[in-house]
Amino acid sequence: MSKRKRFIAGATCPSCNEQDTIVVFVDQNVEKVQCVKCDYLQSQAPGEVSGATRQFEQVIGVFNPDEN
Ligand SMILES: [Zn+2]
Repeated sequence: MSKRKRFIAGATCPSCNEQDTIVVFVDQNVEKVQCVKCDYLQSQAPGEVSGATRQFEQVIGVFNPDEN
């Protein structure tokens, strides 16, 4: 029921260029990146998480320990 959204600190929206407005959440197994300011929305197909989300996560230095 609950769609957990988490803010990506330091991320800049590619649409409105505002900072700290980007949230990431999963909807029906699809990871989505959304800007709460301008409603910019980007979806990632399942298994294709190498797109915008990773790009944003790299901004704050989140690393996946499963990945070498
Ligand atoms: Zn925006």
